[in-house]
Amino acid sequence: MKSYQLVDYGKPLEPVDIATPQPTGDEVLIEVLAAGVCHSDLHIWEGSYDLGGGKRLSLKDRGMQLPLTMGHENAGKIVAVGPDVKDRKVGEICLVYPWIGCGECRVCRMGYENLCMKPRCIGVHCDGGYSDHLIIPKSKYLLPIGDLDPVVVAPYACSGVTTYSALKKLGDLIKEEPIMVIGAGGLGLMCLSILKAMGGKGAIVVDIDETRRAAAIKAGALAAIDGAAPDAGAQITAAFGGPCWGVIDLVGSSATAELGFNALAKGGKLVMVGLFGGAAPWSLPLIPMKAAAIEGSYTGNLAETKELLDLVRKGAVPPIPIGRRPMSAATETIEDLRKGRIVGRVVLTP
Ligand SMILES: [Zn+2]
Ligand SMILES: [Zn+2]
Repeated sequence: MKSYQLVDYGKPLEPVDIATPQPTGDEVLIEVLAAGVCHSDLHIWEGSYDLGGGKRLSLKDRGMQLPLTMGHENAGKIVAVGPDVKDRKVGEICLVYPWIGCGECRVCRMGYENLCMKPRCIGVHCDGGYSDHLIIPKSKYLLPIGDLDPVVVAPYACSGVTTYSALKKLGDLIKEEPIMVIGAGGLGLMCLSILKAMGGKGAIVVDIDETRRAAAIKAGALAAIDGAAPDAGAQITAAFGGPCWGVIDLVGSSATAELGFNALAKGGKLVMVGLFGGAAPWSLPLIPMKAAAIEGSYTGNLAETKELLDLVRKGAVPPIPIGRRPMSAATETIEDLRKGRIVGRVVLTP
């Protein structure tokens, strides 16, 4: 099989021919039909996260091994199954759940493999979908999608379930009040789609880029505010007609976290999703004084991915803008993401 591998951090991905793995036990081999390029691939490619205050989290120190085939938003056709696989069969088209844990620890047993301390995530710790074939360790991570378009469905494995899980953390609030969504990239547009599917009141979107703000309005945002405007805070308060009850920060920089926190009502909740990097900007006394909740949200679990697919099957989730590119355009796509030149999502296809 041909895979596009990260061989050295920050360097172009290399096309590599490797022997196609054959599934054993409960493994499944798929032919990749769609592999979304996610913003977190950019962090993997760079090899680190900015923790603020001059500190960086190095993925190498965290045990990430190179070479690695990235790609965690995958859909494909089953071409071979291991002898122990009973529930999936050759020919089925499936979405791949990538956030795989050890399967044995407390969070894994609770169904939150995405929070496991010994992660084996596809495209992060194990080879992913920037390839024509991909091996999945257990058939339960393959979710059949019937005749849905794999290119549209692939991003639900990361940007979809990530925003779905973040929205769930705001509970019934989303049906009662407009919320604030910071960031109108692939995640932001996905968040607007899923919010609509969940019966949400709507969202006021904040983004520093004019093209992305326009995309957000087109996707149904109630308003779109320039987060870099000197009076951004006042504009946000005016748009909400007061403080806001729930914020989802899909960027996660010091500036966006400050904007989101400052907009919160007493008793409001800020859900942090984005991994842009930086340090917390809040004055500590304001957290108790506002009785604010700040909750991190990292991808989503298998059950949430199934719930989201049910919403998609009902036709409730409007598709986000998707650009299709050949697998060989992986490096160029990561470069475009880094420069903020992509609206919506790019999905690589064979
Ligand atoms: Zn992702
Ligand atoms: Zn575990």
